[in-house]
Amino acid sequence: MTYLLNDPADFAVDALRGYAAAHPDHVMLAHGGVVRSTDTPKNQPALVIGGGSGHYPAFAGWVGPGLAHGAPCGNIFSSPSASQVYSVARSAENGGGVILGFGNYAGDVLHFGQAAEKLRAEGVDVRIIRVSDDIASGPAESHRDRRGIAGDLVVFKIAGAAIAAGANLDEAERVAWKANDATRSFGVAFDGCTLPGAGEALFHVPDGEMAVGLGIHGEPGIREVPMGTAAEVADLLLDGVLEEEPEQSGGGYGGRVAVVLNGLGTVKYEELFVVYARVAERLAEKGLTVVAPEVGEHVTSLNMAGLSLSVVFLDDELEELWLAPADTPAFRRTAGAPSGTPRTTVHTPGEDRIPEASTESRNSAAGIVQVLELLRDTAAEHEEHFGRMDAVAGDGDHGQGMAYGTRGAAAAGSNAAAKGAGARTVLLHAGDAWAEEAGGTSGALWGAALTAAGGVFDDEQAVTAPAIVAALTAGIDAVVRLGGAEPGDKTMVDAALPFRDALAEEFDSTADVAGAVKKAAAVAREAAEATADITSRRGRSRILGEKSLGTPDPGAYSFSVLMDALGTFLASSPDSAAEKP
Ligand code: ADP
Ligand code: MG
Repeated sequence: MTYLLNDPADFAVDALRGYAAAHPDHVMLAHGGVVRSTDTPKNQPALVIGGGSGHYPAFAGWVGPGLAHGAPCGNIFSSPSASQVYSVARSAENGGGVILGFGNYAGDVLHFGQAAEKLRAEGVDVRIIRVSDDIASGPAESHRDRRGIAGDLVVFKIAGAAIAAGANLDEAERVAWKANDATRSFGVAFDGCTLPGAGEALFHVPDGEMAVGLGIHGEPGIREVPMGTAAEVADLLLDGVLEEEPEQSGGGYGGRVAVVLNGLGTVKYEELFVVYARVAERLAEKGLTVVAPEVGEHVTSLNMAGLSLSVVFLDDELEELWLAPADTPAFRRTAGAPSGTPRTTVHTPGEDRIPEASTESRNSAAGIVQVLELLRDTAAEHEEHFGRMDAVAGDGDHGQGMAYGTRGAAAAGSNAAAKGAGARTVLLHAGDAWAEEAGGTSGALWGAALTAAGGVFDDEQAVTAPAIVAALTAGIDAVVRLGGAEPGDKTMVDAALPFRDALAEEFDSTADVAGAVKKAAAVAREAAEATADITSRRGRSRILGEKSLGTPDPGAYSFSVLMDALGTFLASSPDSAAEKP
């Protein structure tokens, strides 16, 4: 539905007024539409494009240098009247004649045609371009009888570029038809659109299905098929348009294509990119070269949930015009390629050079990997429990965060160890991966803790018991430093600080690291449980602080669980380097 409107009957006119007010450098209002805010140069053909409203950026959004000279805008989904087309064309025309461009729909054909008659009667040379890119709307043999959808952008962009480059009316007309004949589009919809002020959509697509071959005026698709994944939708659309790919030899087409992946109104940009990832992959597999693809909303249909894919089979002339600069409110292209040397490498986590390590340190690293794997298994076991605790006043993702984080850390640690990393490097890799995989607040803090702990070790010496205590201490200090939480804020710090202090005290008197960790973990567990009695003052759950009363802080609790597992591990591996101070 449309949330914001005044009188529904005035919606299109109100929108056009606002559009013109927002882009005074590009357009000004004319009767029934907009024209460029600068005069058409003497004897330059005027490209006047239009159709109903409800399709923005089509068509008013494309008025400006390098593209159209004016756009008559009809009511929602209905052609501008002949008099509107005429007024806009009259305003734009300056001795070079007029090209009237529109999608091939009966109403537009009549109204634009009538305006053309009137202009011709007054001695203006007028040519008509009816865009007909939609393969769902008719057989390939009669391509020019099909209806126009997102191909509008391609055809008008190319015609506008030709005019900007000096084409006369004959030339501009020729190249516009050529662009039209080189463009194929195909779309799907998941739900229909609703006219402003209406309570019900023009049509609905049954749940679990999608309508293939939709129009852009609320026409439903030509057939319904089961809903697919993004990749399946990409394949469906691409297979459709590529069925009409011309032979690569001859005709100038050498396997270079422009691509427009067009959202119809409700499909998000991210969704379009998910689909485009597959489209790009498939085109590359087929050996086709994509030239300046456009992924976004170009020809919409109010709030229609759907998308279309257009492919333009380019020759040199079409490619040059597709790439030419344009400056309109909704479509901009700057001249030339971005300056600078093309980049050939980017940093990839885990692919840093692994520093040389001694055998001793590599042995310790193997033990660290075992610890990481144990933490991973422990977090997985408690995933649901941690999640439930976090759901009370937080967002419920703590179980998932800990499971993902430890899984990433174990994998990265073992990967680094396999490449010969020592103790320090293994922990540094694990810390990066934990933060990366877990996301969330606790992921960042645990990642920093592992990184700080790794900083205590080196890649030369075996890890000793005092080094383990120092590393745990450094990890906890990093959490406090980075997170800035104070005791009593109801965070993992409430378990970590008592753990750190108990560990130091116990290890000082016994020099038994396994026992000290176990003991400190028990202290941490008690402290974590005691956080049930306080309200949260940090992190996500502070918003619902009161609600957290009665439930321990999930981060404090999970900390105590993991430290308990660490203690158990140390106690059960008498050969670990840890035992030998
Ligand atoms: P998110 O809060 O981003 O959803 P998680 O749910 O994985 O992340 O982790 C929540 C836990 O993070 C809390 O229970 C708390 O222990 C811990 N936390 C949040 N903020 C801080 C902080 N500033 N310092 C220490 N720990 C914090
Ligand atoms: Mg959370």
